[in-house]
Amino acid sequence: MCHQTIVVRSAPTAEERLPGYLLRIADINGYSGPRDVLSNALTKFGNIAAPHAIEEVARLLGLPLATATNLAYIRSGKSNLRFFGHEVPCRRVSWVNPRLCPLCLRDQEVISCLWDLRFIQACPFHGCQLLRHCQTCGQPLTWHRTSLVRCRCDSDFRKQQTPRASHSAIQVSRRLAIACGLNGVPAPTGFDTALLDLNDLLFLINFFGGRARGASADQEHTQRQTLGQEAIVESAGRLFENPAPIIIEIIDRRAENQPNYKIGNLIKFYFNSVNKYNHPRAKDLLDQLQSAARSYFNVR
Ligand SMILES: [Zn+2]
Ligand SMILES: [Zn+2]
Repeated sequence: MCHQTIVVRSAPTAEERLPGYLLRIADINGYSGPRDVLSNALTKFGNIAAPHAIEEVARLLGLPLATATNLAYIRSGKSNLRFFGHEVPCRRVSWVNPRLCPLCLRDQEVISCLWDLRFIQACPFHGCQLLRHCQTCGQPLTWHRTSLVRCRCDSDFRKQQTPRASHSAIQVSRRLAIACGLNGVPAPTGFDTALLDLNDLLFLINFFGGRARGASADQEHTQRQTLGQEAIVESAGRLFENPAPIIIEIIDRRAENQPNYKIGNLIKFYFNSVNKYNHPRAKDLLDQLQSAARSYFNVR
């Protein structure tokens, strides 16, 4: 099919990125999916972030090139991409296997790119797990569907229900949603990370989550390869409730094997943060990190 322009146009919302936006445009224009909208521009949907594709998207949808560029998951620098105005490591975002919150979709028929953030395991607003598989046909969600709100089997995602997520997963999602600048996010419990920028929060989630488990550095390294996002989020969520004692425990454990390995990251993070977050509300987090670092140096 050859589309010169798209008849019914609609500006992207702040939470939309190209895959979800194209799905919405396809839906309201009666196309058979995002690939159909772009059939003229792309040979493969996977090329969606290629520069020539972005130009074509801008032309087809009547968007300024800068807007179309912001919608795409384009790498900036070596391995970062722009996400809610932050440069985050590419590995923290994945849009290949779409996920969604059925309740959010009921409220607003928009696909939020927050669901592409891999540490988001729960809806920060509704507290439910994200939907990954259609509960009627069991198939994984796909971008290649004709309707924003329906599966290819025609089941309405808005009527599907996912189980309540764990407390940790909900709290981590809330921290992330706040760092992304979303409005109306319920305040998380535990100490306040609202001042951390998205990248620093991602660092801490990964640091806490990945290190709360294995006994030795080597084991941890191996375990990290296989540690699922859910497990990282679970551990991190627990540490955020009361991090200081557990940070010390991690440091102690680490010190038995490789005294300075990686602990430097936490300390570096602390000292960078002191300059970066010159704000009273950041004090709680920084004090706890500092006490962990101090304890390490005093005790050893
Ligand atoms: Zn939701
Ligand atoms: Zn289905």
